[in-house]
Amino acid sequence: MDLFDLNGKSALVTGGNGGIGLGMAQGLAAAGAKVAIAGRDKAKNGAALKSLPGAIALEADLKEEKSCRAMVDEAAKRLGRLDILVNNAGINVRKRPEEYSLEEWKLVLDTNLTSAFVASQAAYPHMKRAGGGKIVNIGSMMSIFGASFVAPYGASKGGIVQLTRALATAWAQDKIQVNAVLPGWIDTALTRRARDQVQGLHENVLRRTPAGRWGEPRDLAGIAVFLCSSASDFITGTAIPVDGGYSSQG
Ligand code: NDP
Repeated sequence: MDLFDLNGKSALVTGGNGGIGLGMAQGLAAAGAKVAIAGRDKAKNGAALKSLPGAIALEADLKEEKSCRAMVDEAAKRLGRLDILVNNAGINVRKRPEEYSLEEWKLVLDTNLTSAFVASQAAYPHMKRAGGGKIVNIGSMMSIFGASFVAPYGASKGGIVQLTRALATAWAQDKIQVNAVLPGWIDTALTRRARDQVQGLHENVLRRTPAGRWGEPRDLAGIAVFLCSSASDFITGTAIPVDGGYSSQG
């Protein structure tokens, strides 16, 4: 269907070498986009490319402003243009609020929130030149709910939603749509670590999710294609849960 066709479009997915980012990158590639993935780990980048024929991988540490800007410019240069940016890279440090150091707070905020701002700012001139673009920011159930072990993570993911609205408002006239996706509990390296650290998490997620299962990275492929294609050209500033009903259940 033309509505969802991404042939001729170029996409950069941060944290695209695994988990949700790779699921989204695979969706964008299947819809026809030329894809660049970015992450710190060269080996993970190489392994991910095996499931992304024709894609390129960039090494970048997104908590560093310079590295983040260079990643965007390199993606635009090597792909020939930049139409799509998925700000997906993210980390979590799980502790009670009173136990965080300021360094840990800044590490999470810089990686999850500031990098999305910097990458979007760097992508703006490329998208403006291309006549429009799509930015997808990855939030979380922690954009909506609280939990005792996510003070910086929850702050970063709440911030992602407000950043999304601000950018969407500012850049709508440039035909750049900016939306957030709020994944529910998805089975990835991040949440495998969470399951090790938070007792009873696995069972709680199964009980609390109406769909009765953990999400898989491929569950995020469809929303990525939708929000990066012309099917969503009049949709901007939204935050869409992809959560098996988790956020709808009281
Ligand atoms: P993973 O740990 O599987 O993936 C995280 C990705 O981010 C990796 O590709 C990693 O690559 C990259 N990354 C982390 N830090 C940096 C950095 N400083 N510079 C560059 N890349 C970095 O986690 P998920 O796939 O689960 O998470 C992806 C996003 O989805 C995150 O924003 C997360 O908060 C969010 N999310 C996840 C949920 C879940 O249930 N899994 C639920 C809600 C939101 P590398 O190690 O090579 O740097």
